[in-house]
Amino acid sequence: MSARKFQFYIVPTPIGNIKDITLRAIEVLKEVDFIACEDTRTTQKLLNHYDIRTKCISYHKYNERERVSFFLNELRAGKTVALVSDAGTPMICDPGGVIIEELLKNGFSVTSLPGACAVTTFLSCIPRQSEEFTFIGFIPRSEKQIIDVVKRHADVNMVFYDSPERILKTLNVIKSVRLNAKVALARELSKLFEEVVCDNISSVIKHFDGVIKGEIVCMVYAEENFEDLELDIKINALKSKGFKDKEVAIILSSLFDFNKNDVYKKSLDCK
Ligand code: SAM
Repeated sequence: MSARKFQFYIVPTPIGNIKDITLRAIEVLKEVDFIACEDTRTTQKLLNHYDIRTKCISYHKYNERERVSFFLNELRAGKTVALVSDAGTPMICDPGGVIIEELLKNGFSVTSLPGACAVTTFLSCIPRQSEEFTFIGFIPRSEKQIIDVVKRHADVNMVFYDSPERILKTLNVIKSVRLNAKVALARELSKLFEEVVCDNISSVIKHFDGVIKGEIVCMVYAEENFEDLELDIKINALKSKGFKDKEVAIILSSLFDFNKNDVYKKSLDCK
């Protein structure tokens, strides 16, 4: 059976090990008329390795809009295009959104090839009781935003990307809201110094002893006692506004389904 022909292909490339590319991806990259790539020099190394001679055109977040009309015109003229990013799957924290929207609006056929991606590579090598997870892309940088995102996702496994320069600070901020959070962290997946650590947040921070190198993907496990955590967060919010323990107990037991005495006792324990 011959492969169905599409006009536009989303093609994943390796996230570390150059051999992590599918036979179909190599075939498509050889056969299309253009490869739209984030950084032509990065992609050229891959193309040289697999003796792929296709012309590369830069397509990145700063020229996405202006390049769209070029590619639409080429596609109208019957040409085919493959989109790649520097590493992994395009559109997963990488450019592609603008062109895909325009392609679909203009009736072009688009297909996405399965392949390397840091999120799925990570999720398939860490212990998980549940299939449920939320991928938030790169975690925000500011302390306030990190706290906000961690609180909002406390009841689900939250997966994120972060840089080696920031991750230990990020983990310390997460720890300030979720003292006993369980964390899985992988660095340099599919590369020489690949490492996966899964432990409580304090042990993970200690394990790296102030220095962590390489590319990072991390998951904060869902809080098992989510209701307790939810109550702690609410109590802390009211106490930080100056409410007394008795007032906190009255407010929270009136507004939510919490027992007044339980709230009061917990409030006394919350510093
Ligand atoms: N499109 C890529 C994908 O499919 O995973 C992600 C691109 S995003 C710009 C780059 C981030 O992905 C890195 O900063 C890191 O957080 C994560 N990442 C990429 N390669 C990785 C690897 N080999 N090991 C761990 N994390 C990786």
